[in-house]
Amino acid sequence: MKQRILFLGPPGAGKGTQAERLAASHNLLHLSTGELLRAEVAAGSALGQEAEAVMARGELVSDTLVLAIVRARLTCCNGGWLLDGFPRNLAQADLLQQLLEEIGQPIELVVLLALDDETLVERLLARGRADDNEAVIRNRLVVYSDQTEPLIAYYRAKGLLSSVEATGTVEAIAERISAVVG
Ligand code: AMP
Repeated sequence: MKQRILFLGPPGAGKGTQAERLAASHNLLHLSTGELLRAEVAAGSALGQEAEAVMARGELVSDTLVLAIVRARLTCCNGGWLLDGFPRNLAQADLLQQLLEEIGQPIELVVLLALDDETLVERLLARGRADDNEAVIRNRLVVYSDQTEPLIAYYRAKGLLSSVEATGTVEAIAERISAVVG
């Protein structure tokens, strides 16, 4: 069974839902940078205030800010973990690589949740989060294809990538993920 896992995929593919389930069933620490950032915004912290406007536009928050959030949580624990929504670009992937080498906890598996754009927009509109109006959704998809999609080739080249079709019921997708996690 893989213990150090990264979830990759466009907004709306179901990363959050699936990550939560897998983390619970496999006893992994679930780290969602989006959720952690939303908590900072809700708390009105300095970090949250810095991130809020950027998130509302669907752009990416600065790499150093996000790395600080992840580093604090990964260095505390020795068990397995599941990263969801991080890294989001090649610079973050390199920073993560350095951090994981430092703490001796290499990634064991990258799960790509694959879904077409139109289904993504439908799902995101149905979700109704603050940053889920159509213009911001379209922008988040552009940001994904420009900045995050290159990570697919990056992790494939390292032999870590498994692609899972993110269509059908939550249950069906969870079963496909379990099959690659082992
Ligand atoms: P998510 O919940 O993963 O869809 O993230 C919501 C928003 O939080 C994104 O649109 C970004 O503005 C911000 N965010 C989340 N994770 C990251 C990250 N790794 N790097 C930069 N910004 C992020």
